[in-house]
Amino acid sequence: MAQIRIQNVRKDFGSFTAVKSSSFTVEDGEFFMLLGPSGCGKTTTLRMLAGLELPTSGEIYIDGEEVGQKPASQRDIAFVFQMFALYPHMNVRKNISYPLRSQGMKRAEVKRRVTEVARILGIEDMLDRPVGRLSGGDRQRVALGRAIVREPKAFLMDEPLGALDAEFRERMSEELRALHDRMGATTVYVTHDQLEAMQMGDKIVVMNHGVVEQFGVPQQIYDWPATRFVAEFIGSPPMNFLDFNAVMDKGTDSIRLGDATIGVPRQIDGASGKLTLGVRPEHVRLTDSGAYRGRIAASEYLGTTQIVTLKTPNGQVKARVASSDPVQVGDTVGLEFDARTLTVFDAGSGRALV
Ligand code: ATP
Repeated sequence: MAQIRIQNVRKDFGSFTAVKSSSFTVEDGEFFMLLGPSGCGKTTTLRMLAGLELPTSGEIYIDGEEVGQKPASQRDIAFVFQMFALYPHMNVRKNISYPLRSQGMKRAEVKRRVTEVARILGIEDMLDRPVGRLSGGDRQRVALGRAIVREPKAFLMDEPLGALDAEFRERMSEELRALHDRMGATTVYVTHDQLEAMQMGDKIVVMNHGVVEQFGVPQQIYDWPATRFVAEFIGSPPMNFLDFNAVMDKGTDSIRLGDATIGVPRQIDGASGKLTLGVRPEHVRLTDSGAYRGRIAASEYLGTTQIVTLKTPNGQVKARVASSDPVQVGDTVGLEFDARTLTVFDAGSGRALV
């Protein structure tokens, strides 16, 4: 098992910077998610952890040892690729044992490890079958088996479930997480799927344009987004953003939106100019009274809840309310926000003020 720490890591490809001064720590035994949109630098970061790319500057530590410029072969971590490449002409046992046999490990030890891995993955009865005849899910298990059998210090996974359909993906993600909980090996997992990151991860790093926007446990990232980008990327439907102009003194704990005074969870350090109030759809209540008002433009039925779209003086707001709440398109209603859940962003920098 291993702790992995990256410190001010940067990666340039010619004049293009794919990763800019990134720092975060993956604690021993954590299931750690690298999350962000396509092209944000997740894979490049993972490849630098693996030693498949060398950082242009900065340091990478595995268990306290600086390995940034060391090749992959000297890092003792296993990279599980998106496309699981198995040897179709070999049976399951040979596929799993391949990395050990190619290291010249003794037969008895190879047998012991393969048996153990097959037991962990629940594929003991398949060991003598050719992989070409297995289902997609079993093939994924064999590929995982081949990574696990080396007993590496850590696993690096790049969208391992990316090619699967939704239902199967859900099942495999549960299996992967359960496997991790049994083995306790440090795992760094790349995904662009915010739900997958929230469901599976102990911690999440959110990246955008090569920059680490935020690093924390899923709840922290959801409840206290550090930037507007994080707030928008995580959650579905995403957080609502209401732009307003204000001059706020240090210590202010409420904002004015039109005629309404809206409390915010923490005191603002002082700000002026264009600000943005962030409120999640599930934290909007629709009331008959209420000083801040909006007109109901649409409602989308989702079973137990409905998503109501409202037009307000500061822009469109989506509210997630109970399906049983009476909602009439065209009505003007009051909107109330739960003060403890609001975020205020500086509109220019996108950084959260509270
Ligand atoms: P995706 O989910 O699409 O794989 P990503 O977040 O993993 O995206 P990266 O693959 O790390 O992103 O790529 C980040 C940026 O660096 C992209 O703009 C990509 O085109 C660029 N890039 C990656 N590898 C190279 C390379 N070898 N040479 C030049 N540019 C590269």
